Amino acid sequence: MTDRAPDAGYEAVIGLEIHVQLRTEEKLFCPDGTGFGEVPNTNVCPVCLGLPGALPVLNREAVELAVRASLAFGCTVHQRSVWARKNYFYPDLPKGYQISQFEEPLATDGVFRVETDDTSDPVGRLAIRIRRIHMEEDAGKSIHDRFEGATAVDLNRTGTPLIEMVTEPDFRSPAQVRAWLTGVKQVLEYLEVSDCNMEEGSLRVDANVSIRPVGSEPLGTKTELKNMNSFSGVERALDVEIARQRDVVAMGGQVAHQTLLWDERRGDVRPMRSKEESHDYRYFPDPDLPPLQVSENLIEAVKAQLPELPAARRTRFREDYGLPAYDAGVLTARRPLADYYEETARTSGAPKEASNWIMGPVLAAMNARDLEADDFPVRPVHLAELIDLVEEGTINRNVAKDVLGRMLESAAGVEVGSAAAKTPAEIVREEGLATVSDTGRLEAWVEDALAAHPEEVARFRDGETRLQGFFMGEVMKRSRGKADPTEVARILTERLEET
Ligand code: ADP
Ligand code: MG
Repeated sequence: MTDRAPDAGYEAVIGLEIHVQLRTEEKLFCPDGTGFGEVPNTNVCPVCLGLPGALPVLNREAVELAVRASLAFGCTVHQRSVWARKNYFYPDLPKGYQISQFEEPLATDGVFRVETDDTSDPVGRLAIRIRRIHMEEDAGKSIHDRFEGATAVDLNRTGTPLIEMVTEPDFRSPAQVRAWLTGVKQVLEYLEVSDCNMEEGSLRVDANVSIRPVGSEPLGTKTELKNMNSFSGVERALDVEIARQRDVVAMGGQVAHQTLLWDERRGDVRPMRSKEESHDYRYFPDPDLPPLQVSENLIEAVKAQLPELPAARRTRFREDYGLPAYDAGVLTARRPLADYYEETARTSGAPKEASNWIMGPVLAAMNARDLEADDFPVRPVHLAELIDLVEEGTINRNVAKDVLGRMLESAAGVEVGSAAAKTPAEIVREEGLATVSDTGRLEAWVEDALAAHPEEVARFRDGETRLQGFFMGEVMKRSRGKADPTEVARILTERLEET
């Protein structure tokens, strides 16, 4: 044993390899469709099956998406990159090689920062360097759990376009990894580069991890973790693996270089195979494909069309709409929600109210219905109208919440944004929900409430003034929530103080 405590004194070092399926209709080198969940082995052709004589033809749309992502993550996009064959045998790889990029990737040397609440980081910002982003085609899928004692192969995914992002080993904790991945996914969604669906495999994260004594420079031997299908899975797998490596070292052993599979159900990792080195793949330039040329013009055009990214939008929401950081974070998490907020805020001219409505009842209703903001039946213009009705005093806030419920009911079953859905003003008019401030009607409700409770009136007059709230409630009940509370309070005080 060393004099070092077994647990303290070591830090984790983590680097990620992220595969992102690009959102194209067609595959990377052939026109087969890329849809998920279709009948196995139907989206295939001689090119992606690697039949003799078939030749690949590059899908330009995929290149544009890859360039877009590379620029958004601050990488340098190279005007020339080279397609390489990565050779290995596996039943779901009929060609015997994957077309990828190796020595000359599409893009290199990026950095992507996320804000964190990690107080150990003085600026609250986590900056992770991106070593490279390259393009490649996906392999097929081996299905181990469908047939007893046999593995099936579905080649529909073969040839689907991907980018692989490789980070430097800049992470020091599983929590940092999770925070950063959340930011990466937000950006990819904003860019509309990928649908980032982890369950369907369009976003896959492999994590490389080692430990080393704190303060020491050289990297320890790493293991590679695969098979995590959520960000929390990535975090937990890393926690488990780091603890395992610490134990190995504490027992005087050495961490073996290997690939480990995360078992979500058992919450542990087990070895898959000893890891091949890159020379085992016998990479060489693909003789069927010329180097990929991306013109300066294309790079500039893609750059000019980059959408506003989440971090910039958060800052702008705070500045333009005076929102607290928390609101800005929630409202920009997904692009459709941010658009929805922005339209509501602009139309109503009441940005903080719009934020309260959306972060409260609107998001709750979206989540309950599992809807994105762009499919939500209450459109921003109508939400803005509802907010206006409250602001100008036509209805009070509680009534407004009911009106929102009615709007959702009336929109059910009609097309989103259709004129058949009722506007808040229509609902208020039809159902007589407007606030009543008319003195005559308010006085009548007050009289009725007092007459029904002579005992309470007497107690009030004996000094039990907290009964004011009780009378308030009685009046509200009689008005079905529509009475103007300020006026009611005034009339109640007047009447109760009479003797
Ligand atoms: P390999 O040659 O095994 O493929 P690379 O140097 O290409 O390793 O790195 C692959 C990934 O592993 C990168 O994300 C990198 O940041 C990460 N990585 C490399 N070495 C280590 C290490 N010792 N500990 C943790 N992560 C590492
Ligand atoms: Mg490598």
